[in-house]
Amino acid sequence: MNNSDKKDQAIVIGSSMAGLITARVLSGHFNRVILIEKDQLVDTPKPRKGVPQGYHLHGLLAQGRTTLEAYYPGISEELVADGALAGDMGETMRWYHFGGYKKKFTSGLNGLLMSRPLLETHVRRRTLQLPAVTLRAGCLVRGLISDASGRCITGVDLETGTQDGQREQLMADLIVDASGRGSASLRWLTTLGYAKPPEEEVKIDLSYATRLYQRKPAPANETEIIMIAPQPPHDRRAGAMFPIEDDRWIVTLSGLLKDTCPTDEAGFIEFSKSLCAPDIFNMIDQCEPVSDIVPYKFAASQRRHFERLRAFPANYLVVGDAVCSFNPIFGQGMTSAVLQAQAMDECLQKADTLDNLWKPYFNRIADVVAIPWQAATGEDFRYPGVQGKRPPGIGLVNRYVKAVHRTTHRDTVVYRAFLDVMNLIRGPQSLMRPAIVWRVIRDVMKHQLSPQR
Ligand SMILES: Cc1cc2nc3c(=O)[nH]c(=O)nc-3n(C[C@H](O)[C@H](O)[C@H](O)COP(=O)(O)OP(=O)(O)OC[C@H]3O[C@@H](n4cnc5c(N)ncnc54)[C@H](O)[C@@H]3O)c2cc1C
Repeated sequence: MNNSDKKDQAIVIGSSMAGLITARVLSGHFNRVILIEKDQLVDTPKPRKGVPQGYHLHGLLAQGRTTLEAYYPGISEELVADGALAGDMGETMRWYHFGGYKKKFTSGLNGLLMSRPLLETHVRRRTLQLPAVTLRAGCLVRGLISDASGRCITGVDLETGTQDGQREQLMADLIVDASGRGSASLRWLTTLGYAKPPEEEVKIDLSYATRLYQRKPAPANETEIIMIAPQPPHDRRAGAMFPIEDDRWIVTLSGLLKDTCPTDEAGFIEFSKSLCAPDIFNMIDQCEPVSDIVPYKFAASQRRHFERLRAFPANYLVVGDAVCSFNPIFGQGMTSAVLQAQAMDECLQKADTLDNLWKPYFNRIADVVAIPWQAATGEDFRYPGVQGKRPPGIGLVNRYVKAVHRTTHRDTVVYRAFLDVMNLIRGPQSLMRPAIVWRVIRDVMKHQLSPQR
């Protein structure tokens, strides 16, 4: 649809990362876009109830940053002016994985380090500056409104929060559900007589524990991202930390398969000591804690295959974690949300009508989420205790990827190829290019045949 035939009104349910970027995209196709958010929102960067993961370390991948920048030109600079730190990912990452540190180099991939609330606050500010977009905060969507046939969604039933239980019906030409992994879409759609999409689940029983530390006066100049990956299949503990705004470190420790990090001071420190490398313990040992230790539990990665449905109501779409939510350790969720919104934009540009938009849209985003899903679940399947449908040949793939990781300890060409995949710039098949395979084989022959941890 081009500008001349803009539709009248769109509604987006949920005003977190997926909802905000979707509203940005829809503002190019609709005269009015209404974001509906159950939380009351403030313009200062603070974690909030509807986004409890906001307390925890959130990395934005290079592809996510580039695409975000395309929709919000200058946003990286604005974030840096507000305390975010920018740096080259190859230079700033101290990453321990499979028995060694990846070799540092200038990768040309630029990352931004900040808290999740700071990022969301900036994206929200920029979205709400768009004349087409308005926010209804403190409003809970209770259900969908359809036409008499049930074939078309025409609006939402809102609990406005102004008075106890006060309800309002809000109508629109398109409604997009961006309400996260707890989305009620499946329930709402089954009430209207639609089948549930086939769902994949990979049960990982992951726990997070996060604490903030002051960067000054101790290692104030360090601007490194430290990542310590676990050594599967026995070791289940990981840790990551990086500097964020206001001269703080954010430190997240995690354990898979119920290997839970304690939330008391001594237990947190002990857990950091037990990681495969001492870097996080050494750093936090010198720093002053400035927050409580906040826990989070993530039972399973989940993917809903809306693209496999035969019937779906017109004028309704789903985006973000409500479609697919991954093991957060791989930092892919926000980038996946941005790329899904971009796919929606492209589908809207090509569509003559909204009626059948769901088909091309869900097909496109199935391709978008397939790559991060494969990457995240593939790594998780290294653990025999992880439950889920293992793809054929995963053992062989994982052995090759392990050799790739070990090669990155020495070879920056292979490391760059790996970073491209990790940042969702290229698909995993790019690691099978002859030039990369050859370098990996050469490294295996030279360095990896002796017994390693
Ligand atoms: C512990 C953890 C760490 C993570 N780390 C990373 C990371 O490092 N990098 C990364 O890219 N991603 C990470 N993610 C994933 C990332 O947080 C999400 O992918 C991202 O927030 C996009 O999600 P979303 O907008 O679809 O949903 P959410 O962020 O869950 O937001 C849903 C929104 O909808 C609102 N809402 C829900 N129901 C209703 C309703 N009925 N009516 C009105 N409003 C409603 C909620 O209040 C909320 O604002 C992490 C996730 C977790 C759990």
